[in-house]
Amino acid sequence: MVQRNKNIARLKAGYLFPEITRRKNALLAKEPGARIISLGVGNTTEPITPHITEGLVAAARGLGTKEGYSGYGEEQGLTALRERIAERYYNGRVGPEEIFISDGAKCDIGRLQILFGPGARIAVQDPSYPVYVDGAVITGMTGGYSEEHGGFEGITYLACTPENGFFPDLEPARNADLLYFCSPNNPTGAVSTFAELKRLIDFAKAHRAVILFDAAYAMYIQEAGLPRTIYEIEGSRDVVIEMNSFSKPAGFTGVRLGWTAVPKDLLFEDGTPMIRDWHRLSTTLFNGASNIVQQGGLAAFDDEGLQEMERTVAFYMENAAIIKAGLDDLGFETFGGTNAPYIWTRTKGKSSWDAFEEVLYKARVVTTPGLGFGPSGEGFIRFGAFGHRGDIEEAVARLRKVFG
Ligand code: PLP
Repeated sequence: MVQRNKNIARLKAGYLFPEITRRKNALLAKEPGARIISLGVGNTTEPITPHITEGLVAAARGLGTKEGYSGYGEEQGLTALRERIAERYYNGRVGPEEIFISDGAKCDIGRLQILFGPGARIAVQDPSYPVYVDGAVITGMTGGYSEEHGGFEGITYLACTPENGFFPDLEPARNADLLYFCSPNNPTGAVSTFAELKRLIDFAKAHRAVILFDAAYAMYIQEAGLPRTIYEIEGSRDVVIEMNSFSKPAGFTGVRLGWTAVPKDLLFEDGTPMIRDWHRLSTTLFNGASNIVQQGGLAAFDDEGLQEMERTVAFYMENAAIIKAGLDDLGFETFGGTNAPYIWTRTKGKSSWDAFEEVLYKARVVTTPGLGFGPSGEGFIRFGAFGHRGDIEEAVARLRKVFG
Protein backbone atom coordinates (compact mmCIF):
# COMPACT_ATOMS: atom_id res chain seq x y z
CA MET A 1 0.00 0.00 0.00
CA VAL A 2 1.16 3.54 -0.77
CA GLN A 3 1.63 5.78 2.24
CA ARG A 4 -0.49 8.88 2.50
CA ASN A 5 1.48 12.13 2.22
CA LYS A 6 1.80 13.10 5.88
CA ASN A 7 1.71 16.80 5.05
CA ILE A 8 -1.65 16.53 3.34
CA ALA A 9 -2.90 14.42 6.20
CA ARG A 10 -2.10 17.36 8.51
CA LEU A 11 -4.60 19.70 6.87
CA LYS A 12 -7.40 20.51 9.24
CA ALA A 13 -11.07 19.95 8.47
CA GLY A 14 -10.67 20.41 4.72
CA TYR A 15 -10.49 23.58 2.72
CA LEU A 16 -12.87 26.28 3.92
CA PHE A 17 -14.93 26.66 0.77
CA PRO A 18 -15.87 22.98 0.33
CA GLU A 19 -17.08 23.06 3.96
CA ILE A 20 -19.29 26.06 3.20
CA THR A 21 -20.70 24.23 0.17
CA ARG A 22 -21.35 21.18 2.36
CA ARG A 23 -23.38 23.28 4.81
CA LYS A 24 -25.25 25.02 2.01
CA ASN A 25 -26.10 21.61 0.52
CA ALA A 26 -27.29 20.41 3.93
CA LEU A 27 -29.85 23.24 3.90
CA LEU A 28 -30.85 22.40 0.33
CA ALA A 29 -31.32 18.75 1.30
CA LYS A 30 -33.75 19.84 4.02
CA GLU A 31 -35.47 22.41 1.82
CA PRO A 32 -34.92 21.53 -1.83
CA GLY A 33 -36.61 24.70 -3.14
CA ALA A 34 -34.72 27.22 -0.97
CA ARG A 35 -33.44 30.14 -3.04
CA ILE A 36 -30.01 30.71 -1.63
CA ILE A 37 -27.97 33.80 -2.54
CA SER A 38 -24.23 33.27 -2.36
CA LEU A 39 -22.07 36.09 -1.10
CA GLY A 40 -19.57 33.58 0.20
CA VAL A 41 -16.91 32.39 -2.23
CA GLY A 42 -15.41 35.39 -4.05
CA ASN A 43 -16.56 34.28 -7.48
CA THR A 44 -17.28 36.78 -10.24
CA THR A 45 -20.75 36.80 -11.79
CA GLU A 46 -20.90 39.41 -14.56
CA PRO A 47 -20.24 38.65 -18.23
CA ILE A 48 -16.79 39.39 -19.62
CA THR A 49 -16.95 42.80 -21.30
CA PRO A 50 -17.15 43.08 -25.13
CA HIS A 51 -13.63 44.20 -26.05
CA ILE A 52 -11.94 41.65 -23.80
CA THR A 53 -14.29 38.94 -25.06
CA GLU A 54 -13.34 39.88 -28.61
CA GLY A 55 -9.66 39.39 -27.73
CA LEU A 56 -10.46 35.85 -26.59
CA VAL A 57 -12.70 35.07 -29.55
CA ALA A 58 -10.25 36.37 -32.15
CA ALA A 59 -7.46 34.29 -30.64
CA ALA A 60 -9.61 31.16 -30.57
CA ARG A 61 -10.68 31.72 -34.17
CA GLY A 62 -7.07 32.33 -35.20
CA LEU A 63 -6.04 28.92 -33.93
CA GLY A 64 -8.19 27.41 -36.67
CA THR A 65 -6.09 29.11 -39.35
CA LYS A 66 -2.59 28.51 -40.66
CA GLU A 67 -1.46 32.05 -39.87
CA GLY A 68 -3.05 32.23 -36.44
CA TYR A 69 -2.05 28.83 -35.14
CA SER A 70 0.46 28.53 -32.30
CA GLY A 71 1.56 25.61 -30.15
CA TYR A 72 3.54 25.87 -26.95
CA GLY A 73 4.17 29.53 -26.29
CA GLU A 74 7.04 31.62 -24.98
CA GLU A 75 8.26 30.26 -21.65
CA GLN A 76 7.37 33.24 -19.45
CA GLY A 77 4.27 34.14 -21.41
CA LEU A 78 3.55 36.27 -24.44
CA THR A 79 6.20 39.01 -24.74
CA ALA A 80 3.58 41.54 -25.86
CA LEU A 81 1.52 40.86 -22.74
CA ARG A 82 4.53 41.09 -20.41
CA GLU A 83 5.58 44.34 -22.07
CA ARG A 84 2.11 45.77 -21.69
CA ILE A 85 1.91 44.84 -18.01
CA ALA A 86 5.41 46.25 -17.40
CA GLU A 87 4.47 49.49 -19.09
CA ARG A 88 0.83 50.04 -18.18
CA TYR A 89 0.64 48.41 -14.78
CA TYR A 90 4.13 48.88 -13.39
CA ASN A 91 5.12 52.08 -15.23
CA GLY A 92 8.49 50.50 -15.85
CA ARG A 93 9.19 49.71 -12.18
CA VAL A 94 9.31 46.05 -13.21
CA GLY A 95 10.65 44.94 -16.59
CA PRO A 96 8.91 42.50 -18.98
CA GLU A 97 11.70 39.99 -18.38
CA GLU A 98 10.77 39.97 -14.66
CA ILE A 99 7.11 39.12 -15.31
CA PHE A 100 5.89 35.52 -15.53
CA ILE A 101 2.40 34.98 -16.96
CA SER A 102 0.47 32.19 -15.29
CA ASP A 103 -2.87 30.47 -15.01
CA GLY A 104 -3.73 32.51 -11.93
CA ALA A 105 -2.43 33.80 -8.63
CA LYS A 106 -3.51 30.74 -6.65
CA CYS A 107 -1.45 28.45 -8.85
CA ASP A 108 1.58 30.71 -8.48
CA ILE A 109 1.17 30.83 -4.70
CA GLY A 110 1.50 27.04 -4.73
CA ARG A 111 4.50 27.03 -7.06
CA LEU A 112 6.23 29.74 -4.99
CA GLN A 113 5.99 27.48 -1.98
CA ILE A 114 7.85 24.82 -3.93
CA LEU A 115 10.45 27.46 -4.87
CA PHE A 116 11.32 28.06 -1.22
CA GLY A 117 10.82 24.47 -0.12
CA PRO A 118 9.87 22.81 3.14
CA GLY A 119 12.64 24.51 5.15
CA ALA A 120 11.15 28.00 4.81
CA ARG A 121 9.56 29.52 7.89
CA ILE A 122 6.49 31.54 7.11
CA ALA A 123 4.44 34.31 8.65
CA VAL A 124 0.93 35.20 7.53
CA GLN A 125 -1.52 37.95 8.25
CA ASP A 126 -4.26 36.56 10.43
CA PRO A 127 -6.92 36.34 9.04
CA SER A 128 -5.71 35.55 5.53
CA TYR A 129 -6.57 33.87 2.24
CA PRO A 130 -6.41 30.15 3.23
CA VAL A 131 -4.10 29.07 0.39
CA TYR A 132 -0.97 30.54 2.05
CA VAL A 133 -1.38 28.39 5.15
CA ASP A 134 -2.81 25.26 3.54
CA GLY A 135 -0.21 25.40 0.76
CA ALA A 136 2.57 25.72 3.33
CA VAL A 137 1.20 22.70 5.18
CA ILE A 138 1.11 20.65 1.98
CA THR A 139 4.66 21.73 1.12
CA GLY A 140 5.86 20.53 4.52
CA MET A 141 6.78 23.96 5.91
CA THR A 142 4.79 23.42 9.12
CA GLY A 143 4.18 21.10 11.99
CA GLY A 144 0.77 19.82 12.97
CA TYR A 145 -2.29 21.80 13.94
CA SER A 146 -2.28 22.87 17.54
CA GLU A 147 -5.36 24.08 19.39
CA GLU A 148 -3.10 25.83 21.87
CA HIS A 149 -1.19 27.71 19.17
CA GLY A 150 -4.52 28.36 17.43
CA GLY A 151 -3.00 27.25 14.15
CA PHE A 152 -0.20 25.20 12.61
CA GLU A 153 3.09 24.84 14.45
CA GLY A 154 5.84 26.65 12.64
CA ILE A 155 3.59 29.36 11.18
CA THR A 156 3.65 32.81 12.72
CA TYR A 157 0.17 34.32 12.72
CA LEU A 158 0.20 38.12 12.70
CA ALA A 159 -3.11 39.33 14.06
CA CYS A 160 -4.85 41.95 11.92
CA THR A 161 -7.77 43.40 13.80
CA PRO A 162 -9.78 46.62 13.92
CA GLU A 163 -7.75 47.51 17.01
CA ASN A 164 -4.47 47.66 15.06
CA GLY A 165 -6.05 49.07 11.91
CA PHE A 166 -5.53 45.66 10.25
CA PHE A 167 -1.77 46.25 10.09
CA PRO A 168 -0.04 43.71 12.31
CA ASP A 169 2.72 43.95 14.86
CA LEU A 170 5.55 42.46 12.80
CA GLU A 171 7.93 41.62 15.65
CA PRO A 172 6.75 38.00 16.11
CA ALA A 173 7.82 37.37 12.48
CA ARG A 174 11.44 38.22 13.25
CA ASN A 175 12.58 34.67 12.37
CA ALA A 176 10.37 34.15 9.34
CA ASP A 177 11.82 33.68 5.86
CA LEU A 178 8.63 34.46 3.99
CA LEU A 179 6.08 37.13 4.90
CA TYR A 180 2.74 36.69 3.13
CA PHE A 181 0.97 39.98 2.73
CA CYS A 182 -2.24 40.77 0.86
CA SER A 183 -3.46 44.27 0.08
CA PRO A 184 -6.26 45.07 -0.60
CA ASN A 185 -6.88 42.31 1.83
CA ASN A 186 -9.02 39.26 1.50
CA PRO A 187 -10.91 38.88 3.83
CA THR A 188 -10.75 42.14 5.82
CA GLY A 189 -10.95 44.55 2.87
CA ALA A 190 -8.18 46.65 4.45
CA VAL A 191 -5.65 48.42 2.24
CA SER A 192 -2.12 49.15 3.39
CA THR A 193 -0.81 52.70 3.04
CA PHE A 194 2.57 53.73 1.64
CA ALA A 195 3.89 54.19 5.18
CA GLU A 196 2.71 50.73 6.26
CA LEU A 197 4.25 48.98 3.27
CA LYS A 198 7.48 50.90 3.84
CA ARG A 199 7.48 49.57 7.41
CA LEU A 200 6.89 46.04 6.10
CA ILE A 201 9.75 46.36 3.61
CA ASP A 202 12.13 47.79 6.20
CA PHE A 203 11.25 44.95 8.56
CA ALA A 204 11.80 42.30 5.87
CA LYS A 205 15.17 43.80 4.99
CA ALA A 206 16.25 44.02 8.61
CA HIS A 207 15.38 40.36 9.15
CA ARG A 208 16.44 39.10 5.71
CA ALA A 209 13.00 37.85 4.78
CA VAL A 210 11.14 37.91 1.46
CA ILE A 211 7.67 39.40 1.14
CA LEU A 212 5.20 37.46 -1.00
CA PHE A 213 2.78 40.23 -1.87
CA ASP A 214 -0.65 39.24 -3.14
CA ALA A 215 -2.14 42.11 -5.12
CA ALA A 216 -5.06 40.18 -6.63
CA TYR A 217 -7.46 43.01 -5.68
CA ALA A 218 -5.20 45.96 -6.49
CA MET A 219 -7.47 47.20 -9.27
CA TYR A 220 -10.27 47.52 -6.70
CA ILE A 221 -8.55 50.43 -4.95
CA GLN A 222 -10.78 53.47 -5.40
CA GLU A 223 -9.12 56.06 -3.20
CA ALA A 224 -6.24 58.15 -4.47
CA GLY A 225 -2.99 58.10 -2.55
CA LEU A 226 -2.86 54.35 -1.89
CA PRO A 227 -0.19 52.10 -3.42
CA ARG A 228 -1.51 49.90 -6.25
CA THR A 229 1.61 47.80 -6.37
CA ILE A 230 4.20 47.37 -3.65
CA TYR A 231 6.87 48.30 -6.18
CA GLU A 232 5.70 51.90 -5.80
CA ILE A 233 7.58 51.84 -2.52
CA GLU A 234 11.23 52.70 -2.79
CA GLY A 235 13.63 49.88 -1.99
CA SER A 236 11.11 47.09 -2.63
CA ARG A 237 12.77 45.43 -5.61
CA ASP A 238 15.24 43.32 -3.65
CA VAL A 239 12.71 42.09 -1.12
CA VAL A 240 9.30 41.48 -2.75
CA ILE A 241 7.72 39.00 -5.14
CA GLU A 242 4.27 40.23 -6.25
CA MET A 243 1.43 38.04 -7.47
CA ASN A 244 -1.49 39.43 -9.42
CA SER A 245 -4.55 38.18 -11.25
CA PHE A 246 -7.02 38.95 -14.02
CA SER A 247 -9.70 37.04 -12.12
CA LYS A 248 -11.46 39.81 -10.27
CA PRO A 249 -11.02 42.88 -12.53
CA ALA A 250 -11.61 41.09 -15.86
CA GLY A 251 -13.93 38.31 -14.68
CA PHE A 252 -11.31 35.68 -15.55
CA THR A 253 -12.01 33.46 -12.52
CA GLY A 254 -12.96 30.67 -14.90
CA VAL A 255 -10.81 31.77 -17.84
CA ARG A 256 -7.61 31.70 -15.67
CA LEU A 257 -4.84 34.26 -16.05
CA GLY A 258 -2.44 35.95 -13.67
CA TRP A 259 1.19 36.89 -13.29
CA THR A 260 4.04 36.97 -10.85
CA ALA A 261 6.76 39.60 -10.79
CA VAL A 262 10.19 38.45 -9.65
CA PRO A 263 12.69 41.33 -9.78
CA LYS A 264 16.27 40.47 -10.69
CA ASP A 265 17.50 42.16 -7.50
CA LEU A 266 16.11 39.35 -5.31
CA LEU A 267 18.88 36.99 -4.27
CA PHE A 268 19.10 33.83 -2.23
CA GLU A 269 21.61 33.60 0.61
CA ASP A 270 24.20 32.02 -1.73
CA GLY A 271 23.85 34.83 -4.25
CA THR A 272 21.68 32.95 -6.75
CA PRO A 273 19.08 35.27 -8.28
CA MET A 274 15.61 34.07 -7.31
CA ILE A 275 14.41 34.79 -10.83
CA ARG A 276 16.78 32.10 -12.13
CA ASP A 277 15.30 29.38 -9.91
CA TRP A 278 11.77 30.65 -10.50
CA HIS A 279 12.31 30.43 -14.24
CA ARG A 280 13.67 26.90 -13.89
CA LEU A 281 10.84 25.83 -11.63
CA SER A 282 7.97 27.38 -13.54
CA THR A 283 9.18 26.10 -16.90
CA THR A 284 9.49 22.63 -15.40
CA LEU A 285 6.15 22.41 -13.62
CA PHE A 286 4.04 24.64 -15.84
CA ASN A 287 3.67 24.86 -19.59
CA GLY A 288 2.32 28.38 -19.88
CA ALA A 289 -1.09 30.02 -19.76
CA SER A 290 -3.44 29.30 -22.63
CA ASN A 291 -2.57 31.26 -25.76
CA ILE A 292 -6.24 32.20 -26.20
CA VAL A 293 -6.43 33.54 -22.69
CA GLN A 294 -3.23 35.53 -22.99
CA GLN A 295 -4.72 37.35 -25.98
CA GLY A 296 -7.71 38.14 -23.76
CA GLY A 297 -5.22 39.54 -21.24
CA LEU A 298 -3.59 41.63 -23.93
CA ALA A 299 -6.99 43.10 -24.83
CA ALA A 300 -7.65 43.77 -21.14
CA PHE A 301 -4.52 45.90 -20.94
CA ASP A 302 -5.12 48.21 -23.90
CA ASP A 303 -7.05 51.49 -23.51
CA GLU A 304 -10.45 49.98 -24.15
CA GLY A 305 -9.76 46.94 -22.00
CA LEU A 306 -8.55 49.02 -19.07
CA GLN A 307 -11.73 51.11 -19.26
CA GLU A 308 -13.83 47.97 -19.31
CA MET A 309 -12.03 46.58 -16.26
CA GLU A 310 -12.65 49.87 -14.46
CA ARG A 311 -16.36 49.57 -15.23
CA THR A 312 -16.46 45.97 -14.02
CA VAL A 313 -14.72 46.93 -10.79
CA ALA A 314 -17.08 49.92 -10.36
CA PHE A 315 -20.08 47.62 -10.67
CA TYR A 316 -18.87 45.26 -7.94
CA MET A 317 -17.87 48.19 -5.75
CA GLU A 318 -21.42 49.57 -6.04
CA ASN A 319 -22.57 46.16 -4.82
CA ALA A 320 -20.14 46.49 -1.93
CA ALA A 321 -21.56 49.91 -1.04
CA ILE A 322 -25.12 48.51 -1.05
CA ILE A 323 -24.17 45.64 1.26
CA LYS A 324 -22.12 47.82 3.56
CA ALA A 325 -24.86 50.45 3.87
CA GLY A 326 -27.42 47.73 4.63
CA LEU A 327 -25.27 46.16 7.34
CA ASP A 328 -24.35 49.54 8.84
CA ASP A 329 -28.07 50.44 9.03
CA LEU A 330 -28.69 47.23 10.92
CA GLY A 331 -26.10 48.19 13.51
CA PHE A 332 -23.37 45.80 12.42
CA GLU A 333 -19.83 47.04 12.65
CA THR A 334 -18.31 46.71 9.18
CA PHE A 335 -14.83 47.12 7.73
CA GLY A 336 -13.55 47.16 4.16
CA GLY A 337 -15.92 47.40 1.21
CA THR A 338 -14.52 50.72 -0.02
CA ASN A 339 -11.27 49.64 -1.73
CA ALA A 340 -11.95 45.90 -1.87
CA PRO A 341 -14.96 43.76 -2.75
CA TYR A 342 -15.26 42.34 0.78
CA ILE A 343 -17.15 43.58 3.80
CA TRP A 344 -15.69 42.23 7.03
CA THR A 345 -18.48 42.26 9.56
CA ARG A 346 -18.42 41.86 13.31
CA THR A 347 -20.96 39.26 14.43
CA LYS A 348 -22.25 41.03 17.53
CA GLY A 349 -20.68 38.45 19.85
CA LYS A 350 -21.65 35.27 18.00
CA SER A 351 -19.06 32.73 16.90
CA SER A 352 -18.35 33.08 13.21
CA TRP A 353 -19.79 29.65 12.30
CA ASP A 354 -22.94 30.39 14.38
CA ALA A 355 -23.35 33.71 12.61
CA PHE A 356 -22.76 31.98 9.26
CA GLU A 357 -25.49 29.42 10.05
CA GLU A 358 -27.89 32.10 11.29
CA VAL A 359 -27.53 34.18 8.12
CA LEU A 360 -27.76 31.02 6.00
CA TYR A 361 -30.85 29.57 7.67
CA LYS A 362 -32.76 32.79 8.34
CA ALA A 363 -31.84 34.91 5.30
CA ARG A 364 -30.77 32.15 2.90
CA VAL A 365 -27.59 34.10 2.28
CA VAL A 366 -24.19 32.40 2.16
CA THR A 367 -21.33 34.31 3.77
CA THR A 368 -17.89 33.14 4.84
CA PRO A 369 -17.17 32.52 8.54
CA GLY A 370 -14.17 34.53 9.68
CA LEU A 371 -12.60 31.65 11.60
CA GLY A 372 -12.01 29.89 8.29
CA PHE A 373 -9.41 32.57 7.51
CA GLY A 374 -7.47 32.10 10.74
CA PRO A 375 -7.85 32.43 14.50
CA SER A 376 -8.22 36.23 14.46
CA GLY A 377 -11.18 35.84 12.10
CA GLU A 378 -13.31 34.56 14.97
CA GLY A 379 -16.20 36.93 15.66
CA PHE A 380 -16.46 38.07 12.04
CA ILE A 381 -18.14 36.98 8.83
CA ARG A 382 -17.19 38.09 5.34
CA PHE A 383 -19.69 39.32 2.77
CA GLY A 384 -18.44 39.25 -0.83
CA ALA A 385 -19.66 41.88 -3.29
CA PHE A 386 -19.75 39.59 -6.33
CA GLY A 387 -23.30 39.03 -7.56
CA HIS A 388 -25.99 40.25 -9.91
CA ARG A 389 -27.46 43.54 -8.73
CA GLY A 390 -30.89 42.02 -8.16
CA ASP A 391 -29.41 39.32 -5.93
CA ILE A 392 -27.41 41.84 -3.91
CA GLU A 393 -30.52 43.96 -3.34
CA GLU A 394 -32.57 40.89 -2.47
CA ALA A 395 -29.90 39.69 -0.02
CA VAL A 396 -29.84 43.06 1.73
CA ALA A 397 -33.67 43.15 1.86
CA ARG A 398 -33.67 39.72 3.50
CA LEU A 399 -31.03 40.79 6.02
CA ARG A 400 -33.18 43.81 6.88
CA LYS A 401 -36.17 41.52 7.47
CA VAL A 402 -34.20 39.16 9.70
CA PHE A 403 -32.07 41.60 11.66
CA GLY A 404 -34.07 44.85 11.37
N1 PLP B 1 -5.30 35.79 -3.93
C1 PLP B 1 -6.36 36.19 -3.24
C2 PLP B 1 -6.17 37.07 -2.06
C3 PLP B 1 -7.64 35.76 -3.60
O1 PLP B 1 -8.69 36.14 -2.89
C4 PLP B 1 -7.80 34.93 -4.72
C5 PLP B 1 -9.11 34.44 -5.14
O2 PLP B 1 -10.11 34.60 -4.54
C6 PLP B 1 -6.66 34.53 -5.40
C7 PLP B 1 -5.43 34.99 -4.99
C8 PLP B 1 -6.76 33.59 -6.54
O3 PLP B 1 -6.65 34.24 -7.74
P1 PLP B 1 -6.68 33.42 -9.12
O4 PLP B 1 -8.10 33.29 -9.54
O5 PLP B 1 -5.87 34.28 -10.03
O6 PLP B 1 -6.05 32.10 -8.89
